[in-house]
Formats: sequence, C-alpha cells, structure tokens
Amino acid sequence: MSCHFSKKVGCVDVDFPFAKIHRTAVETADFRLQLFNVGKALFRTHHIGTGGNLFKQRIVNAVLNEQPRSGCGKMERLLDLSSQWAATRVQFGQAIGKFQGTSFKLADMATERRAADLLVRAACQKADEGTMTANDAAMAKLFGSEALGRAADNSVQIFGGMGLMEDLPIERLWREARIERIWDGTSEIQRHIIARSQLRPYET
Ligand SMILES: Cc1cc2nc3c(=O)[nH]c(=O)nc-3n(C[C@H](O)[C@H](O)[C@H](O)COP(=O)(O)OP(=O)(O)OC[C@H]3O[C@@H](n4cnc5c(N)ncnc54)[C@H](O)[C@@H]3O)c2cc1C
Repeated sequence: MSCHFSKKVGCVDVDFPFAKIHRTAVETADFRLQLFNVGKALFRTHHIGTGGNLFKQRIVNAVLNEQPRSGCGKMERLLDLSSQWAATRVQFGQAIGKFQGTSFKLADMATERRAADLLVRAACQKADEGTMTANDAAMAKLFGSEALGRAADNSVQIFGGMGLMEDLPIERLWREARIERIWDGTSEIQRHIIARSQLRPYET
C-alpha cells in the first residue's frame, strides 16, 4: 500500500490517499485519533453515544440514498451504453445485439436492473411507513450490489476489447462497481442478516 502524504486535520492524523482500484469520487485514508474531546453539545446535536441507533441510521441511509444512486443508477448507465453499442457494432455482417450471446446479456441486465430498483423502492416505502427491517435493507443492498457487478462484467464483455479502454466509460464503471460488495456491509454480512431473520422464527 502506498500513501502519498500525511496531514493533521484537527486532532486526527490522516495519511492519504491509498492507491486503490476504485479511483474516482472518494479518497480513502488511514487515520489515527490522538486526543479526542467531545463536548456536551455534540452529544445532544450529533447523537454521539447512541451507537446502535447511529448504525441503524447509517444502514437506512445506505439503502435509501446510496444504493439507488450508485447501484441502480450505474446499472441504468451500463444498460444504456451496452444496448447502444450492441445495436450499432457490426461483426460477421450483423449488429452484435442480434447474436443471442449478446442479447441474452442485455435481457439479464435489464431484468436485474428492474429487480434491484423494486427491492430498493420496497425498502424505501417501508422506511417511510416506519416498518423497514434490517432484512429489507440487507436484501436491497446485497442484490443491488451483486447485480451491479454482473452488469458491469457483462458490459465489458459486450464491448469486447474496447470495454477495457480508458477512452470509454465502461472501464471506470466496471472498476467502481467492485467496491459496492464491500462497503456498507460486505455481501457476506448481508447474507448473515438475511439468514438470521429466516432462522429466527424456527429457533427454540
Ligand atoms: C474505498 C473504500 C471506502 C470506504 N469508505 C468507508 C466509509 O466512508 N466509512 C466507513 O465506515 N467505512 C468505509 N470503508 C470501510 C468498509 O466499510 C470496510 O472495508 C468493509 O466493512 C469491510 O471491512 P474490512 O475491509 O475490514 O474487511 P474484513 O472485515 O476483514 O472482511 C474481509 C472478508 O471477510 C469476510 N468476513 C468478515 N467477517 C465476517 C463474518 N463475521 N462472517 C462472514 N464473513 C466475514 C468479509 O465479508 C470479507 O469478505 C471503506 C472501504 C473502502 C475500500
């Protein structure tokens, strides 16, 4: 791992940025707290000390805000770009979208894009009603992030060699998709949450 430089932000020592696959939008830093005093006002206004509830809010935010934006939105973009490419790129005398090996990929991407969107909408609706569970959030996060990974991989395949070139946006979308299965709870942790809620009614 390489760190370019360090700096002090208030009472926090920050080394950044790490070089990483997901290069755009966010920098990732290693930080160490030296001396951290939290005033009483912060406890009241920022809910410090309410760890469990804060975590719950973080998960809700991940499902309501970040997944629709970064998951479904990226899938939509991948689908648009791939459909346009498949309809216009000609090989062996016809558009590659006419070959079943390509068209079925588009069908899968479109179906999974819709399914991810519906899972997120269902979770959002339950959140509005105050009935959203960890299971609802975990299913939306798990399916959305894994479907995005499959869509990004399919897109690279549809674009062929051009899918790997930095001249087109596919390479960046593919690279950025990988983190979604890791942050805001890895896929394994989401599966733990879903499995736990499946088992709970039958446990003695
Ligand atoms: C680019 C980037 C940005 C990030 N941004 C933020 C941020 O803004 N805020 C923030 O809080 N965090 C952030 N993170 C941290 C991120 O949430 C963690 O990387 C993630 O939670 C996984 O933790 P870990 O890396 O320590 O992996 P580990 O916990 O070491 O996990 C490694 C592997 O073991 C598996 N594993 C671990 N425990 C279990 C278990 N109990 N059961 C089954 N499998 C298990 C994991 O699923 C994973 O496959 C960021 C990470 C990256 C890479």
